[in-house]
Amino acid sequence: MENWSFSKIEATKGCRILYEKKYIQKLPPDTTVPEYEEAKKIHEEIQTNFIKRQVDYPILNPYMSNIIAVEKAYRHYFKEQDIEFVAYADVVLETEVSRVILDIKCRYNSNINEKDRLQLLTYLALANQERPVAQNKIGIIVPYNQFMPVTLIDIEEPPPVDLILEEIEKAKRRIPRMTVKTSECAYCEYKRSCDYGLKEIDNNDMQAIAEKYLYLKAQVDLYEEILRKHIELTNQKIRVGDKEIGFFERAYTKVDVPEFIMLCQDNDVPYLDAVKIDTVKAKQLAKKYDILTQAMDKEIKYVFTTKKIGED
Ligand code: SF4
Repeated sequence: MENWSFSKIEATKGCRILYEKKYIQKLPPDTTVPEYEEAKKIHEEIQTNFIKRQVDYPILNPYMSNIIAVEKAYRHYFKEQDIEFVAYADVVLETEVSRVILDIKCRYNSNINEKDRLQLLTYLALANQERPVAQNKIGIIVPYNQFMPVTLIDIEEPPPVDLILEEIEKAKRRIPRMTVKTSECAYCEYKRSCDYGLKEIDNNDMQAIAEKYLYLKAQVDLYEEILRKHIELTNQKIRVGDKEIGFFERAYTKVDVPEFIMLCQDNDVPYLDAVKIDTVKAKQLAKKYDILTQAMDKEIKYVFTTKKIGED
C-alpha cells in the first residue's frame, strides 16, 4: 500500500534528494530548522487556546460554541489504487450542520493562495466524505498579522475525494522529472547529511555557483545554530587556533532622547544633526498628521541578497 499526504504531494515540487530521504528512504530528519520549531510552538499554542476556547478572533465568534477539534485526522483508502491518504487538520469547528476547517500558517499574508486552497479542499473532501454537512467553510489563521489574523471562505460544494487522487497522480508524474533544488537548503531537515553541494563545480558556471552558494549558506547557518546552542548550554567558548567562538560582550550606547534634547535646549547646544528619526514611528505619526508626509521620500538602494520569487 502507498501512503500519501498533502505534504508528500507538495514535496514532489521540491528537491529530489529531500523527497528521497523523507518519503522513499523514510529517514528521520538529521537536523532541526529553527523556523519550523518556532512554527510548531505557535501551532501548539493556538491549538491549546482553541481547546480552552480562549481565542480572540471576532470573525470566528459565531463558531466558538461548536465542537472544537485540533489535529483532527482524516483518512481515506483508495481501494483500487491501494493508496491511503492521511490528513491532519489544525483546527475544526463543527456542529450538526456546519463545519469550519482552519489551517495555521506562520506568515503575515492573510490571503488564501492556491496552495492553501488545495490543501484545505483536500481536508474538506475527506471531512465531507466522512460526514456531509450543509454549510462548509475553509480558512487560514495567520498569527503574524494582527489586523487580519483569520480569513474564511464559503465552499458551496465540497469537492469529491477524487480530487485527492488526481493530485496524487499529478505528483507521481512529477517524480521522474524532479531535480535537486538548493533553493530549499535553508529549510531542509536533511541538510546535515546531504553532501550534494560539496562536489566540485566549474567556476565559470554561474548557475552552478549560485546553487552551491545557497547550499553552503544553509550549511553555515546549520553549524552556527549548533555552535550557538552548545555555547548557550555550556557557557563555554570554543577555541580554534587563534580564534574563539562564543558570546562576547559588546557595549551599545543608549540615549534617552527626550532627556538629550532637553539638555541641548537648556544649554543652547545645536542638536538636530545628532537626532535620528525612527522611521517606523515617523510613518505612524505621518498617518495621523498628513503634513509630515511632506518630509518623507523614498530612496532606492540595490542590495546583494537572496530573495524568494513572489516576494514584494
Ligand atoms: S540540503 Fe539542499 S540539496 Fe540537500 S536534500 Fe536538502 S534541499 Fe536538497
